[in-house]
Amino acid sequence: MSLLHQQRVRVFRNSQSFFAPERPWEAFCPSCEMTAHAICMDVFATWHEAVAWANSHLRQYHCRFCIDQQMPAGRSDVLGELYERCPACGPACEHCDGLAVYPANYNTPAELAVDLRVLKLTAVFCDGCHGVVAVIPLDPEVYA
Ligand SMILES: [Zn+2]
Ligand SMILES: [Zn+2]
Ligand SMILES: [Zn+2]
Repeated sequence: MSLLHQQRVRVFRNSQSFFAPERPWEAFCPSCEMTAHAICMDVFATWHEAVAWANSHLRQYHCRFCIDQQMPAGRSDVLGELYERCPACGPACEHCDGLAVYPANYNTPAELAVDLRVLKLTAVFCDGCHGVVAVIPLDPEVYA
């Protein structure tokens, strides 16, 4: 377990716990307590079991490269801050091979389209992951 991971999941002995006679070791993930998207704690008979839980929890719910599978991918003058899908957290999109980026400033493709239209540009979205794969000049005839 890396140092970074040790700071994320806390493994400690709690002899005050209700479970202490059989399972005095606790493992607890503070960041998952906040988001509640995973089981954030459990109790164990041995330190080894607790650490094994911490490791598998981190492997399943946490990544060293990203937050919620979104990894910073620099910025573009037109799109602003960009994110991409974390390649460590899942297979790349079959359609774009993981090339697509997600502008952090926009919640929907429609919002992005409105801003790009001002610049006479339009985004090409990936059919698979709905990320932006290209920004191209807007055809003036489309909106004539
Ligand atoms: Zn967690
Ligand atoms: Zn990741
Ligand atoms: Zn894609």
